[in-house]
Amino acid sequence: MKYISTRGQAPALNFEDVLLAGLASDGGLYVPETLPTFSKEEIASWAGLPYSDLAFKIISPFVAGCIDDADLKQMIDETYAGFNHIGVAPVQGLGTNEWILELFHGPTLAFKDFALQLLGRLMDYVLSKRKERLVIMGATSGDTGSAAIEGCCHSEHLDIFILHPHNRVSEVQRRQMTTILEDNVYNVALEGNFDDCQQMVKDSFADQGFLKGLKLGAVNSINWARIMSQIVYYFSASLAVGGPHREVSFSVPTGNFGDIFAGYLAKQMGLPIKQLVVATNRNDILHRVISGNDMSKGTLEHTLSPSMDIMVSSNFERMLFDIYDRDGAAIADLMDRFKSESVQLDGARWDKVRELFDSCAVDDETTCAVIKQVYAETGYLLDPHTAIAVKAARECNSDRSVPMIILATAHPVKFPEPVVKAGLESPQLPAHLTDLFEREERLTVLVNDLGTVQQFVASHVHNS
Ligand SMILES: *Cc1c(COP(=O)(O)O)cnc(C)c1O
Repeated sequence: MKYISTRGQAPALNFEDVLLAGLASDGGLYVPETLPTFSKEEIASWAGLPYSDLAFKIISPFVAGCIDDADLKQMIDETYAGFNHIGVAPVQGLGTNEWILELFHGPTLAFKDFALQLLGRLMDYVLSKRKERLVIMGATSGDTGSAAIEGCCHSEHLDIFILHPHNRVSEVQRRQMTTILEDNVYNVALEGNFDDCQQMVKDSFADQGFLKGLKLGAVNSINWARIMSQIVYYFSASLAVGGPHREVSFSVPTGNFGDIFAGYLAKQMGLPIKQLVVATNRNDILHRVISGNDMSKGTLEHTLSPSMDIMVSSNFERMLFDIYDRDGAAIADLMDRFKSESVQLDGARWDKVRELFDSCAVDDETTCAVIKQVYAETGYLLDPHTAIAVKAARECNSDRSVPMIILATAHPVKFPEPVVKAGLESPQLPAHLTDLFEREERLTVLVNDLGTVQQFVASHVHNS
């Protein structure tokens, strides 16, 4: 399988190179040149498969020619054996024809484990084959950092440096990162805010000279392998509620458009999906584009659903590439204009976007109200990101006879503030994490200065 850039100017790469590359050299994102497709009969024949067998069916076409089948199967098996639920991604009933897809049974209690647990293994495998090392650098406000660290900490060919804003990450989230004591893991608490962390990572990718020959790798959702891994649970959830012989709909709490883009791909690959609902918090650029053809940056709002606090959804570009009939020059032009002004899609293109997606933006007050209401009605405790998706599902549902599947992207214990605001008791840590607050922590506090951070990274990487 070959991968091409959404901006049309970078060379086509194979899976291995895309895995290690992150962003394309023309500033675009890599997407598969063609998508594998599956017939309804074939999808139906997968009913009842264990999650990791299903994952192998769906992922193997994307890595064909690069990763041996038996090795891939082993990596997938190991990845999902580390989850704390036998079903890996179980579906629970919430209301009439309304379902919750629980994606928080991985080691860090958020859906990012689905991709990052596999990504760490895939990277290690490829690096070992090539006898190379890679340095991972990332910025986090919480979820991505802990999932990336858990995903990479056993990789012998990776060093991982995660920057978080000092004293501005919740204690559970900080401890999920800083209590991983493997010697290839470095937590940097930066004396600045999340934007400073992100800027520092961006500047380091742009000029990697400070690494003296080593290269940086990306673990954010611009990395294709993350998207690929997330396609699987759209299939498993559909199969769990009667697909593919009936259509299903999904409501997805969305920030960077990675997770919902995986749902869009599942649909393109043959899964019968009726609605894809984009659920955002008050950082609502996606809702503004979909509902009003207004693609403009706005200002960053801090909300009770911090993993969706973004101004620009990078993976939206991957979808626009399809909408613009894979015209890289048109996307390059659009993204270039978007840097400095608000843009509109051509009318016919916008119509296509609206045909594919519904959307809803939900504020903090409503988020808390939904948590409270759903708990009162069912005894089920939602995390704030999931609560937003529940609200969006109920607002946008166009056909109540179609099962609506809501993606639960995090365990409520990670985000106690809105739960407490809703007047409920703070949720308890699950069994395997009950001693989190007693565990030893390791982190380095650094001043908000690029040279200082780069010096720290350069002096700690392992050269072999
Ligand atoms: C990352 C994250 C999201 C948003 O996912 P995207 O792929 O960026 O759209 C939603 N919920 C939680 C809990 C997350 O950690």
